[in-house]
Amino acid sequence: MPGRVEADVRQRAATAEAAEAADRDPAKLTQLRKQAEKSAQELEEATKALEKRRAGIAAAEKELKAKLLTLQQAERRLAESRQPVAQMVELVYQQPGMTSGVAPFLSGDSDAGTLRSMANVSQMVTERQASVEQVAALAKESQRVAAEAQEIRASNLLAEAQLSAEVDMLRKRSDKVVKSLTQALVKLGIKVDKVGKAAFSCNPLRAATAGNYPNGLIPTAMLCPLQQKGHSLRADAAIAFISLSEAYRRQFGRPICVTDAYRNLAEQQSVYYRRPGFAAVPGRSNHGLGLAVDLCGGVERFRSAEFVWMERNSKKFGWFHPDWAYSSPFEPWHWEYDPKIDTLP
Ligand SMILES: [Zn+2]
Repeated sequence: MPGRVEADVRQRAATAEAAEAADRDPAKLTQLRKQAEKSAQELEEATKALEKRRAGIAAAEKELKAKLLTLQQAERRLAESRQPVAQMVELVYQQPGMTSGVAPFLSGDSDAGTLRSMANVSQMVTERQASVEQVAALAKESQRVAAEAQEIRASNLLAEAQLSAEVDMLRKRSDKVVKSLTQALVKLGIKVDKVGKAAFSCNPLRAATAGNYPNGLIPTAMLCPLQQKGHSLRADAAIAFISLSEAYRRQFGRPICVTDAYRNLAEQQSVYYRRPGFAAVPGRSNHGLGLAVDLCGGVERFRSAEFVWMERNSKKFGWFHPDWAYSSPFEPWHWEYDPKIDTLP
């Protein structure tokens, strides 16, 4: 029996180890970051399409409204202008005095005046008829435009609802990916405080926001902490660095040693005055953008096994040793991040 318990314990330990190895897979983290970036981009595009559609609907509604108003105004003007003609015709038919001109014509006793008044009446009747027809045509056109407006509105609303649903779906997907990414980071020892500040600042979608701050003035809350205590970087650089460090751990059995990552303006000034010529002018350093690290644990020695490994492997994670740091000044410990050079799928 003890044998089986031992086997069980061993089995469980092996499973946990395998799970942990999978969690620590440096490619997985990069994959999650890329998924997060991709889903955020899709969400942004869909949101833009929705906004564009809404603006289009608003413009179409405005145009239809204006068209309807013009038609209604024309209809009203015509109705008003036919008013006097109509009243006169009514008068001719209703007041006996006015029809006196007609009677002699009917009795055959007509003169020029009677004929003129007859022509007038006939003219009025024709005009009235024409205006009635015009009003009817305008009313019909109004109805047609109103029906068209209704149809356009209905199809626009349908399209908008479909786009809204798509945006919702993409937002949920994006949230889910960011959540998985956060969980993976937590498993790798990244501290997430109670209000989820790290999750917030390690969201790669925040990288762009952090990029809006001037060099050395990025608020701490906008930076993602590294596994190495006290150090942080811009979210995308941090996630790439954590992936790189996990790959390094597989080779050397320990994470990458870090002496410096993000430096604020005051820290950069202090380094600059302590080691003039060795640190960038304050406000010009990539450390102030959260995109550079200074390393130790062997990497700081040119051509050490660690340095050579870094040269061979860091680029696929987006990290590289800049050309200037090979010579002027010679800084083998200084490494930088460029999101455009990583080759991980
Ligand atoms: Zn440096």
